[in-house]
Amino acid sequence: MTENMAKIDTRCVHAGYNPGKGAPRQLPIIQSTTFKYETSDQMGKLFDLEESGYFYTRLQNPTVDAVAAQINDLEGGVGAILTSSGQAANLFAVLNIAGAGDHIIAANNIYGGTFNLLGVSLPKLGIGVTFLGADASDQEIEAAIRPNTKLVFGETISNPGVEVFDIERWAKVAHKNGLPLVVDNTFATPVLCRPFEWGADIVTHSTTKFIDGHGVSVGGALVDSGNFPWDQYADKFPGLTTPDASYHGLTYTKKFGKAAFIVKATTHLMRDLGSTQSPQNAFYLHLGLQTLHLRIRRHSESALKVAQWLQNRPEVAWVHYPGLENDAHHALALKYCPDGCSGVMAFGLKGGRAFDNRFLDALRLTTIETHVADCHTCVLHPASHTHRQLSDEQLRAAGIAPDLIRLSIGLEDPEDIIADLQQALENA
Ligand SMILES: *Cc1c(COP(=O)(O)O)cnc(C)c1O
Repeated sequence: MTENMAKIDTRCVHAGYNPGKGAPRQLPIIQSTTFKYETSDQMGKLFDLEESGYFYTRLQNPTVDAVAAQINDLEGGVGAILTSSGQAANLFAVLNIAGAGDHIIAANNIYGGTFNLLGVSLPKLGIGVTFLGADASDQEIEAAIRPNTKLVFGETISNPGVEVFDIERWAKVAHKNGLPLVVDNTFATPVLCRPFEWGADIVTHSTTKFIDGHGVSVGGALVDSGNFPWDQYADKFPGLTTPDASYHGLTYTKKFGKAAFIVKATTHLMRDLGSTQSPQNAFYLHLGLQTLHLRIRRHSESALKVAQWLQNRPEVAWVHYPGLENDAHHALALKYCPDGCSGVMAFGLKGGRAFDNRFLDALRLTTIETHVADCHTCVLHPASHTHRQLSDEQLRAAGIAPDLIRLSIGLEDPEDIIADLQQALENA
């Protein structure tokens, strides 16, 4: 696509949709489940994957495809699909190449929903998982790899711990062992980090977060770099490298080359699991994407200001934000996210749980909500909210400090955000 020549800010505005003469300037919402053909033969060829074309919105829809192409362009992949949620995107990334009897490796600091998906639900389908610290050594990663291991998984900036994943190092270890690296790039977005440039093979997103950015539509994306040599490890990935009986014996890597993985995700997983995104939601994502470059930099700048301010408050015990010079992940942040570290941070207060709750209650501008990463500043205390059934000991075992407060900086004036935090600390 010609947009690939342009800078990322221009591509946020233009990629994915190039209207021709007389076509709508804005991306049209094609609110149609089905598409019309003239002859029986035309329809037959679509089902043989002989020709590409639209036939049913569960598999493909022009509005949804335009937005998938936009995200694909920003990430620098060979193809992408949108899914109904970020959970579905991560599920698809695994199920596209792993099944019962297989095994995967994941960093243990990933989003709680993904941790449950990989650690609780996938084992019920017969897929085993080993969780490793994101700072595991190359030797520790290699020691966890088994003959039936199919992929390695991590998050660019982890939710809620905001730790930066060493993509290049993990990719090297994975590739040395014939495995693809899947990276959930939700918090960084392709404006701040493009994991394919560091060796990741597959990227996933919860587009529900900064890409939507206004808290209006749940969605996900799965993007294929096209770089993983599936045929070189044909025995390990038979779904991609041997004939598929459900499509008259075609072999994905032979027929679709570099796009084998992403085509199979559509023709198999979308067809069978149906975790599709609606054209209406894709339209909202498109609006979000067109301002993502402006928003994510503002989120990042304001978050850094707030993190620096919090760090100097007497009531604050600790602050994690990779943009802070004294943060344990600052060196990795400079490498992978030099233009900013997104709007999310974590911090702890010194006053104990009762003080935490008085602080939350005293906030006026900042809202208490389970969401993160939209235009409103919001806050969550996992020990009192999402994880309230766990004891402090259980929280620590799950990698969540009992005093951890997750703060997501919105697009308000940072001085107003700071003033709100200040009055809440003083009144608590
Ligand atoms: C929210 C989130 C998900 C899950 O996405 P949904 O759209 O809520 O299904 C996955 N990964 C990360 C990093 C997230 O923050």
